[in-house]
Amino acid sequence: LGPTVCVGEILVEIVATTVGDGFLEAQPLVGPFASGAPAIFISQCGRMGGQAAMVGAVGDDDFGRVNTDRLKRDGVDISAISIDPAYPTGSAFVRYRKDGSRDFVYNIATSAAARFGWSRTVGDLIDRTGHLHVMGSALSVPSARAVIDRAVDIVKARGGTLSVDPNIRKELKLDEDTERRFSKLVAMADLLLPSGEELERAAGVEGEAEAIRRLFEIGVKEIVLKRGAGGASYFDSQGDRIDAPAFLVQEVDPTGAGDCFGGAYLTCRRLGMSPQQALTYASAAGARNVTLLGPMEGAGTRQELDAFIASTERRP
Ligand code: ATP
Repeated sequence: LGPTVCVGEILVEIVATTVGDGFLEAQPLVGPFASGAPAIFISQCGRMGGQAAMVGAVGDDDFGRVNTDRLKRDGVDISAISIDPAYPTGSAFVRYRKDGSRDFVYNIATSAAARFGWSRTVGDLIDRTGHLHVMGSALSVPSARAVIDRAVDIVKARGGTLSVDPNIRKELKLDEDTERRFSKLVAMADLLLPSGEELERAAGVEGEAEAIRRLFEIGVKEIVLKRGAGGASYFDSQGDRIDAPAFLVQEVDPTGAGDCFGGAYLTCRRLGMSPQQALTYASAAGARNVTLLGPMEGAGTRQELDAFIASTERRP
């Protein structure tokens, strides 16, 4: 089959423990937590027992080691994560507001995450990759974008598969070039994992049914729409639909739910499970992850998810 590979930003996240507006006053923070949407996704793939590898970069510092140690523990091949001697590991500071929205301070553009490129190690990995997963957020990072462009062409030309999580906030304006790359990737996706309004954005049309019809028309094979505590829905090009209600949990920190959901869904499908079974594991992975503070502190192994599924009710 060849491993599932994700290319993109690896960060630490540092989270305010109080709710409020931004970071203008001194406040208690917790972290560093291993993070970066692509890293969370691939970590969940490894935890589910799938073959998984990550392409990206960290600095030669403890923030980098928090990430590489975590990915290695989760069974992810980290040989194509380069260690940049000159730039620090990327970071994101996050504080929740009362209405649930978040303020971020990012250090990615001047971090190792924005400075990696193609290498022989990356090339060797991509030559044996069975499935590539791309996060829309990585397209805003020029170094990741260049590696993704090349990797997508190689993997697809060899008959490998591609999944895309748009992971782009609705209000975020992409420049023309990034928008064009994004549309091209969507059209090449075997599996699309949008969340909420990203579905319509990816399709370029309004209305859920119309967006789904359009995406199948341009070549997408399978769509799983994430709806937070509202659950998730599976659609395929044969017209089948499965709705998966969310599990009933106490949400502590929503960050990373979609990435854990996606990593679990994809891995289950690649391990040969049905869409229904994959949706159950994915819904459990997303729900379990929101119960703990930190972007992937609640990510579960297959055994942990089995226990979670057996002991947790679904939302009505
Ligand atoms: P993020 O960008 O924060 O990683 P996302 O917007 O891509 O997340 P969500 O729809 O928030 O993705 O979450 C993915 C899945 O995780 C949902 O479809 C659902 O199954 C599960 N999930 C998320 N939040 C909750 C919650 N509060 N309770 C139960 N399940 C949840």
